[in-house]
Amino acid sequence: MTSFTTDLPFPESLTAWKACPVCCGDVEQVVAEDGAQPHLECRGRCGREWYANPKPTVNLFVEHPVDGRLLLVRRGKDPFEGYWDVPGGFMEEGEDAVEGARREIREETGVEVTVGEFVGAFSDVYGTDRATHTVNLFWRAIAVDPDAAAPSSDASEIGWFTREELPPMEEIAFDCVPRAIAAWAAGLGH
Ligand SMILES: [Zn+2]
Repeated sequence: MTSFTTDLPFPESLTAWKACPVCCGDVEQVVAEDGAQPHLECRGRCGREWYANPKPTVNLFVEHPVDGRLLLVRRGKDPFEGYWDVPGGFMEEGEDAVEGARREIREETGVEVTVGEFVGAFSDVYGTDRATHTVNLFWRAIAVDPDAAAPSSDASEIGWFTREELPPMEEIAFDCVPRAIAAWAAGLGH
């Protein structure tokens, strides 16, 4: 077996676990097992191993089909209530990533889209306690029916913005979204 060590600290999200969530058995931190990231092992009946993995979110840079303006949503709830955001959200278990992104955009803005190239993956933390680690995936997309755009679900307002007149970065939600917007803008290539 190939042996390696990891520099990752013991995952914060698992340090709060006092018992196995399946069998209520005692759990033990395992930090230096060959070939494994730090994790918890159940010493009770089920013996499961518990790893901390980031949650994926799926997000789209929806561009207007005529003039290329970018569709942003103002967040209607915390975290970052009142801040502008790229529409998107958490993937559901068993869901295709791009399908999930289309679903989130439909829920928040009412718009149907054609999904284009991948922009990038950006790690971040989520929640008012910043306890949920996320990996945030972004694609470009073109709105099929831009006139249908209206805020719903978690969005309180929508807006179409030219690249030159985006909201100031301090009014953009999360740490990863300004970085993603910079990558999107760089990828436009003109
Ligand atoms: Zn257990």
